[in-house]
Amino acid sequence: MSEVLYEVRDSVAWVTLHRPEYRNAQNIVMLMKLDDAYTQAVQDDAVKVIVLCGSGKHFSAGHDIGTPGRDIDKAFERRATTWYSHEDREGAEAMFVRESEAYLGLCKRWRNLPKPTIAMVHGACIAGALMLTWACDLIIASDDAFFADPVVRMGIPGVEFFMHPYVMSPRKAKEFLFLGDRIDATEAHRIGMINRVVPRAELASTVADIAARISEKPRFALALTKKAINFAEDRMGVNETMDHAFALHHLAHAHSAMTQSDHIGGQDAKAMKKAMK
Ligand code: ZN
Repeated sequence: MSEVLYEVRDSVAWVTLHRPEYRNAQNIVMLMKLDDAYTQAVQDDAVKVIVLCGSGKHFSAGHDIGTPGRDIDKAFERRATTWYSHEDREGAEAMFVRESEAYLGLCKRWRNLPKPTIAMVHGACIAGALMLTWACDLIIASDDAFFADPVVRMGIPGVEFFMHPYVMSPRKAKEFLFLGDRIDATEAHRIGMINRVVPRAELASTVADIAARISEKPRFALALTKKAINFAEDRMGVNETMDHAFALHHLAHAHSAMTQSDHIGGQDAKAMKKAMK
């Protein structure tokens, strides 16, 4: 069973989240394999552009909060931070250390990959799934795609990779988080969060066409262009905002663990799904 599929066609690496039976819910095994795939694509001279997509009906339902493959307590390799393993740690330490690497650290690393990345989104793109798309350079969605960050219901102020006020206006970000409602691809496009919306049947061909056109440009120029724009976002405070929001996020996890049954307000996948209907 491979949680992430990898294929190079022409000069494009197609990286596919592959737990379709669980709507591509992200466990650590999947995130590590995603990092492996990205690393392979960056190292391969034949690859000019990286596309991230999902198997099955949905792009991704977010972090794994309830499948049989949930591996929240298991140790894993550190690649983005210098933190020690969270395994056998307790309380806020375990949570903070784990999420520093698995969620914030890896997404920050992926945002700065030196090759253009395109998120190709269909169906659900919820909470932790947003983080994977926001770390990409372009987001192309089909007209059946929908987006939501409903985690305020869990007592936490948004997902760990806190780009909300940069990928949409601050006022819209408040509405997106306060309500936690789904927005469809047309609305996501209107507010500037995604680049294009296309009919479902044309999604893969549109992304392939865009990737092919980007691939015609010089590798180093693409890397430098990306670096210049990411630098501009950095100067707008993206990293400081994320680090601040991450501290608040962990205050919220700790508060929840102290006052509720767990660190996510006693919400499980079933309760979240029901609330989202
Ligand atoms: Zn968290």
